[in-house]
Amino acid sequence: MNTWLTISPDSDFSIHNLPFGIFSKNGGSKHVGVAIGDYVIDLGAAQELGAFDGLNVTNDVLENDFLNDFIALGKPTTNAVRLRLQEHLCDDSSPLKDSDALIPMNDVQMHLPVKVGDYTDFYSSIEHATNVGKMFRDPENALLPNWKHLPVGYHGRASSIVVSGVDIHRPKGQTKPPEGDPVYGPSQRMDFELEMAFIVGKPTELGDQITTENAMDHIFGMVLFNDWSARDIQKWEYVPLGPFLGKSFASSISPWVVTMEALEPFKVAGPEQDPPVLDYLKTDGALNFDLNLTVEIEPDGSEPTVVSNSNFKYMYWNMAQQLAHHTVNGCNVNIGDMMASGTISGKSPDSYGSMLELSWAGKNPVNLNDGSERKFLNDGDTVTMKGHCEKDGTRVGFGEVRSKLLPAK
Ligand code: MN
Repeated sequence: MNTWLTISPDSDFSIHNLPFGIFSKNGGSKHVGVAIGDYVIDLGAAQELGAFDGLNVTNDVLENDFLNDFIALGKPTTNAVRLRLQEHLCDDSSPLKDSDALIPMNDVQMHLPVKVGDYTDFYSSIEHATNVGKMFRDPENALLPNWKHLPVGYHGRASSIVVSGVDIHRPKGQTKPPEGDPVYGPSQRMDFELEMAFIVGKPTELGDQITTENAMDHIFGMVLFNDWSARDIQKWEYVPLGPFLGKSFASSISPWVVTMEALEPFKVAGPEQDPPVLDYLKTDGALNFDLNLTVEIEPDGSEPTVVSNSNFKYMYWNMAQQLAHHTVNGCNVNIGDMMASGTISGKSPDSYGSMLELSWAGKNPVNLNDGSERKFLNDGDTVTMKGHCEKDGTRVGFGEVRSKLLPAK
């Protein structure tokens, strides 16, 4: 595919990607946009130029604060919009060329792409679950008996999901020192979790189940997800019902939603599941994604250091299994629901997806390029996660989720 637009070969936003997001310009109203190279296509303006004639897409869906109404049009329509844009970008006579529908990305502000009704966080990396089990519980029996039989998860907090660029205050809460009584104060063990999240694109009715066979029809696309975690608060509160305030203060996502159609060429087989899973969790074919992930820490006024190189393909449980399990009891899902993967760790220590694992609970500090070291995050640290797929010269990426940790309020 040859486009008339100049796009750097290392851009995440190639002609093959065309992710959707919500942007505004100069404090104006929010519109649906598509990222291409260093530009954003204003879909409202593109519509007025006739770009989507015959596709049954109305202006109110494109001039909207969130993608939810656009997603509700259904994959046949939303993907037709994406493919139509591809045609326009490769057609020298397109009305989009030299039009004001193309806006330099530096001139826009990005917003939360979807109104998130419910948020679920899974725990689907066997390396991460094993590492945490060794540190928090028993080095000999790190995985709990249920772990290989079902994709463990918990219901998170949708209200505190924010877009890249929104800075986060260090949370305060209750922790328990190794000796003595519980205390209240700012968390001393602030951490990130490197995750991907998928966005539900097709709702179900209460009582309905989604099968692994049709699960991917219910997923619109994906974003990078930083599940900020206060390890000291988490460690004291999590027994017996799981994560609560150590997680609910904030989660950050990347602004561009990469569609499952754009990710299709990067599917790979997941790890073998042994013991075999129950029938309702069985899947056919490749349902993992070869998606390179990095985490950088940038101290205030200093240079960034890559502290983790991981890959989404390592996940033990795939998204189809997560969605089938989530709805096996008849729990309904809605457009805009967000389901995060759980921390994505690989086998090697430099692929671990959290400071908890990288520093092994503070025992092995991580060295940064400026000569400083970290066991957990310092105030003023900016955490940036990036992700992209690449195959046969085709690149489809997510851009970044970047946020700074501010002192406690
Ligand atoms: Mn998490």
